[in-house]
Amino acid sequence: MSTKDFLEKDYYKTLGVAKTAKPAEIKAAYRKLARKYHPDANKGDSSAEERFKEISEAYSVLSDEKRRKEYDEARSLFPGGFRVPTGNRPGTGGFGFDLGDIFSGAGDAGGRLGDLFGGVFGGGRTTAQNRPRRGADVETETTLGFGDAIDGTTVALRLVGEGPCPVCRGTGAKAGTVPKVCPTCNGTGQSSRNLGSFGITEPCKECHGRGLVVEDPCPDCSGSGRAMSSRTINARIQAGVADGQRVKIPGKGAPGERGGPAGDLYVRVHVKPHPVFGRSGDNLTVTVPVTFAELALGAEVKVPAHRGAPVTVRIPAGTPNGRTFRVPGKGVRRKDGTTGSLLVTVDVMVPKDLNGKARSAIEELREATAGQDPREELLERAKLG
Ligand SMILES: [Zn+2]
Ligand SMILES: [Zn+2]
Repeated sequence: MSTKDFLEKDYYKTLGVAKTAKPAEIKAAYRKLARKYHPDANKGDSSAEERFKEISEAYSVLSDEKRRKEYDEARSLFPGGFRVPTGNRPGTGGFGFDLGDIFSGAGDAGGRLGDLFGGVFGGGRTTAQNRPRRGADVETETTLGFGDAIDGTTVALRLVGEGPCPVCRGTGAKAGTVPKVCPTCNGTGQSSRNLGSFGITEPCKECHGRGLVVEDPCPDCSGSGRAMSSRTINARIQAGVADGQRVKIPGKGAPGERGGPAGDLYVRVHVKPHPVFGRSGDNLTVTVPVTFAELALGAEVKVPAHRGAPVTVRIPAGTPNGRTFRVPGKGVRRKDGTTGSLLVTVDVMVPKDLNGKARSAIEELREATAGQDPREELLERAKLG
């Protein structure tokens, strides 16, 4: 079977089934027709033999799920059929030009079509233009809640990029029409000029090397075959990501061309602040109000922990204000499975209103400490230097 058959022959019609026919229907239709036109049953009838060949060919494609899909896709791109000129290039047999070459000039759309035709037509040629190409890296950003950044989460990311125009499927031709083979270069995309004893080859001026010309451009993409499209992917963000970090998600960038690998996706992560907790590397921070008495006399204070029961921090007697205590294991989980700490900073609260008993107790404290001037040393040191 010739490769161009895919575009020229209607295998569904050959078997007398609908395009939506189920595999069982296709099989049944084939069996019925094969019995009728089998050469053994039609000895000497060359038209029956020809018909039998056509039926077998149609069935060989439509009965194979993968090939049927390729066939459907090829035909959906050129719904009106597609006559491939032959014999334009010496040495290419009956197949005049390489569709991969033609479409490779059209960027991503070309890549997609190149892929498709590579599959349909078996590829085989490896010029620089139709070699597999890795997809581009893509950048995006996302904003996470404080807790999601610490625990890790999965986010849905909407990626917008240029791809084949969905209306014309990247052909650039208005719906119901197809690009025509360029009459100037007969689809080769190249024109040759003879300059005395040697010739030069350059891209065809009529079709700009594409090999096809669009007579009725697709109004949606003005004939370019390209359009902005969006896709949504779910990306796993590892636990412990920090605000401003750039996370690499391998293989989630732009799709590769002609079987090449996809590019990578880079996600710039923003983390919303938490009303209570802060971050310092792998540690969480929290500032805890304490009373003067708790610092002076020592105390055990309850401190909030992120996602979990509060933890108790023992404050020794005589702790200065602003001291930080470390609670191991209550911070951010690291990649190696260990966890950072919760850093608890004490902050003395001075009461605005004092009841009678508290007021008289503090007045007593003032009298009891009247001999101590906390600024004495400061005033002395200020005289130095
Ligand atoms: Zn279009
Ligand atoms: Zn041309």
